[in-house]
Amino acid sequence: MSTPLPLVDRLNRPLGVLRLSLTARCNLACPYCCPDVEEPQGLLTLEQQMRVIRVAARLGARKLRLTGGEPLMSRRLLPLLEAVARARRDCSDPMAYLQSVALTSNGVLLSEEMARALRAAGLDRITISLDAIEGNTAARMAGLRGGAVAGDRLVRQVQNGIAAARAAGFDPSRGELKLNTVIQRGNNDDQLLLLAELARQQGLELRLIEYMDVGNRNQWMLDQVLTASQMVERIHACWPLEPLGRPRYGTARRWSYCDGAGSIGVIASISEPFCGDCNRLRVTADGQAFTCLFSADGTDLKPALSSEPYLEQAMRYLWQRRRDRYSEERDPAAGESAHAEMAYLGG
Ligand code: SAM
Ligand code: SF4
Repeated sequence: MSTPLPLVDRLNRPLGVLRLSLTARCNLACPYCCPDVEEPQGLLTLEQQMRVIRVAARLGARKLRLTGGEPLMSRRLLPLLEAVARARRDCSDPMAYLQSVALTSNGVLLSEEMARALRAAGLDRITISLDAIEGNTAARMAGLRGGAVAGDRLVRQVQNGIAAARAAGFDPSRGELKLNTVIQRGNNDDQLLLLAELARQQGLELRLIEYMDVGNRNQWMLDQVLTASQMVERIHACWPLEPLGRPRYGTARRWSYCDGAGSIGVIASISEPFCGDCNRLRVTADGQAFTCLFSADGTDLKPALSSEPYLEQAMRYLWQRRRDRYSEERDPAAGESAHAEMAYLGG
């Protein structure tokens, strides 16, 4: 089966990545994200999820990222991974075009058993999120009551999750295990160096994400954003860095430590938007497709989910008329605009 050319949108951006959310719920309540307490009606079935993935792969997606909410809370995760792995082995199935299947998780439920099961079910990569090392800040960033005690417990759980992933074979030196951190100026920016130190010690790439104006519940304000250059400056002052650049279609601008202790990535959606080569399609747990992280509304794929040809037509139409470039057009002076919530979209 020869690989078909990916579909391009009105700005000539190919479809390359499908981010599929498995749930809008979460076992944490990070105030910058504000997940839903209840699941939306009409979660996609396994068959429908497979249909979405297969059609996305046929239209150009080469990477699949499973997310949420917290995807480890979803009972659909392992059966879905197993079904995707089977389809990837079948060279007559468009899912064979998928080059990687990744997961983003807060790591709380990542036990040794779960990490082994994920690996065995065909997961290639895990990104784990952690926003602080110090207990009080960790609790505040995760929306946990119980102050330092609760925060220390969370940091231990996440560190255990990282260890479990490594033990299950997710190798950070091959980019299979990474750490995500959202930095909010005045809230957890004092944790930046501690997190960088942890990641350096453990050989993990730290991905520093600018606080984004996704959703309407987090009361986002521009002055809470610590820009990617400011983050890089702070780390560079402690451990000098060399630029590696941002790969085409990548989200992160990467830097390597001059002393050889690995690399970091900064995701500068606010200060240096990368809409120009954004190749990501997001589909929520209830089948709403979003062609931009900052959109207010998605397109309901459910009416088209009864058959693959219908779905292909709907997804093709959606991508071909895509012209979103919200981050490049953002005008903080224009006041608030409506956005779908991050935990619903999946990041
Ligand atoms: N629960 C999982 C987790 O936390 O990794 C997966 C879903 S979460 C929505 C995916 C990523 O989005 C996380 O790394 C999280 O830190 C990030 N995120 C959530 N809200 C954000 C915001 N307002 N700005 C920047 N990143 C955000
Ligand atoms: Fe949950 Fe992830 Fe949102 Fe935090 S960022 S509330 S862990 S979905």
